[in-house]
Order: sequence, then structure tokens, then C-alpha cells
Amino acid sequence: MALDLEQLSSISREVATSIDDRLSVVSVAGTEGGGNRVELLVTVEGCHREPCRHILNVSRAEVHQFEKEVRSQLQAALMDHRAG
Ligand SMILES: [Zn+2]
Repeated sequence: MALDLEQLSSISREVATSIDDRLSVVSVAGTEGGGNRVELLVTVEGCHREPCRHILNVSRAEVHQFEKEVRSQLQAALMDHRAG
């Protein structure tokens, strides 16, 4: 079952909120040429480096896989942000 962008953005927003409320998913878009990947634009509020943007590239092939990849990439983005 393919997920549409609306479903993907609501799932990714829930994941972001559950990790840290400073994370916000600004947009979710298909990659060029279609395929099974989407790009998420994420910002971290309250960063010393405004605006703090991260682009995530995630598989949309399967909902649990999508959720898992979003979670780990958001955590990595946040870690990166704290380290700076
Ligand atoms: Zn930052």
C-alpha cells in the first residue's frame, strides 16, 4: 500500500513531536523522477544557527520502515544540532 504525502507528513510530524517539540516538519515532497523516496524538510527551533534546516531522504515503501527511518534521521539531526 503506497502512502500519500498527506499521510507521510502526519506520520512524520507525530514522530518529530514524540522526539523533541523543537523539531518541526515543514514539508514532505516526492523526489525527482518519482520512485519510493521522499524528502522531508525539517527545522530545529531555537537554534544558534537560524534557520536550522535539515533535509531527510526517506523510503516511503512501507509505513513501519518509513517511521523507523524518520525517527533515526530526526535523532541524528538533533544530535548534530546539539554538537554544534
Ligand atoms: Zn541547529
